Amino acid sequence: MGELRELYQEVILDHSKRPRNFGELVGANRRAEGYNPLCGDRETVFIRLEDDVLEDVGFRGAGCAISTASASMMTDAVKGRTRAEAEALFERFHRLITGQDGKKEPGESELGKLEVFSGVREFPVRVKCATLPWHTLKAALAGVDQTVSTELTEGPKAESGGA
Ligand code: ZN
Repeated sequence: MGELRELYQEVILDHSKRPRNFGELVGANRRAEGYNPLCGDRETVFIRLEDDVLEDVGFRGAGCAISTASASMMTDAVKGRTRAEAEALFERFHRLITGQDGKKEPGESELGKLEVFSGVREFPVRVKCATLPWHTLKAALAGVDQTVSTELTEGPKAESGGA
């Protein structure tokens, strides 16, 4: 299991350093912004939705390694899928990283590469980082034209700035 964990960390590191589908998506007809105040992650997800198919997906933003890697791998995973398939994938991903998936062996959850995030369940704070791009994707699909936050109770607090 130790080797597997190392492999998982390598994949996450690779995606965080060289995110796929990064940048504003030309021709996008859906977009949403996501914000995770606990960590400071901000991401904008772009979708070119045609006939209920996510023809192209991209993102941009700044966040921690987990949120960036998750967004990168999410865009790869949902590209070419239907809206229903993408939402079902989110459900499975969410069960995986919150540990509601039971003790499945790698390869059993139909998540493919996304299984690298299974270790995140041991770090509850990081679950928000990993799910941020997915919540944002869902908002974009729903046509929600506002920033989605991982913290539902968030008030109009002043932002802490930062360089
Ligand atoms: Zn984060």
